[in-house]
Amino acid sequence: MNMAMFASSADPIAPAADPLDYLADVLFHEMGSPGVYGRTALYEDVIERLAALITRHREPDTEVMRFPPVMNRGQLEKSGYLKSFPNLLGCVCGLHGTESEIDAAVSCFDAGGDWTASLSPADLVLSPAACYPVYPIAASRGAAPAGGWRFDVAADCFRREPSRHLDRLQSFRMREYVCVGSPNCVSAFRERWMILAQEIARDLGLSFRVDYASDPFFGRVGQMMAVSQQQQSLKFELLVPLRSEEKPTACMSFNYHRDHFGTAWGITDASGAPAHTACVAFGMDRLAVAMFHTHGRNVAKWPTAVRDLLCFPRNDQ
Ligand code: AMP
Ligand code: ZN
Repeated sequence: MNMAMFASSADPIAPAADPLDYLADVLFHEMGSPGVYGRTALYEDVIERLAALITRHREPDTEVMRFPPVMNRGQLEKSGYLKSFPNLLGCVCGLHGTESEIDAAVSCFDAGGDWTASLSPADLVLSPAACYPVYPIAASRGAAPAGGWRFDVAADCFRREPSRHLDRLQSFRMREYVCVGSPNCVSAFRERWMILAQEIARDLGLSFRVDYASDPFFGRVGQMMAVSQQQQSLKFELLVPLRSEEKPTACMSFNYHRDHFGTAWGITDASGAPAHTACVAFGMDRLAVAMFHTHGRNVAKWPTAVRDLLCFPRNDQ
């Protein structure tokens, strides 16, 4: 890919030059939509090394689950997603009609018409975060044990926020550690991870700060939800100044949901009260972009300590 990707005059998205653009041709392949990219071997190798580093920090007794990029629509609805981010949701649609209706849709396309008018929604949505599918699975197991449950989850996630910025993708990888249990064990989990994650970011040579955050809840009610989330310190983010100090990029988030998912799914803790939940989310693509922006496009020239941490072979340099 070359820089034309960012400057097509036919493109509805403004072709604003961005400080991360210089990374595009070594990290990504254009796929025709903003924020949806094929990935180069160089980039994918770093993603895999970052994932392995995160795995090495997995706490004992953590159950590993890997989820596909889609999940059940009813489950996401039950989790309250439509009240929070309906604008970001991607829904799977299909041609569900009879053979003749499907034929008619295809003929419509062949005649230059709009075949998509014949689409109807399936029972699937594109997962907007890796942890949503884990709560119904936990709920099916009865009460959480006294020490809580810990999960290691990952998924390809989708959010409908098209952008030309390489750190704001529509399709991106998310890795999460999730804790389900009593308020005490869940808040201790988040505290531990907020410290550990900063150690990891420091060891990776990233400059960062951790700050209170709020999710981009939709609409006017959403603005009130955002204020309350911030006031209650429910969300923190690890922010890396990729394009500016004023508008840093969130590469990880530390989320305390209180009893939101416990109540929605009927999960109880060992005392029989609605379980609390928390998750620490690693934006794998943002972390990889941050590494290339910080240390350069040539991984052979990355600092030795960083290369060692990511288990690059020593004789590579
Ligand atoms: P969130 O659930 O919004 O806290 O997202 C968890 C993590 O996923 C964030 O800290 C980011 O690192 C990553 N992330 C969220 N949205 C995007 C996006 N549009 N493009 C790339 N990474 C993202
Ligand atoms: Zn989560």
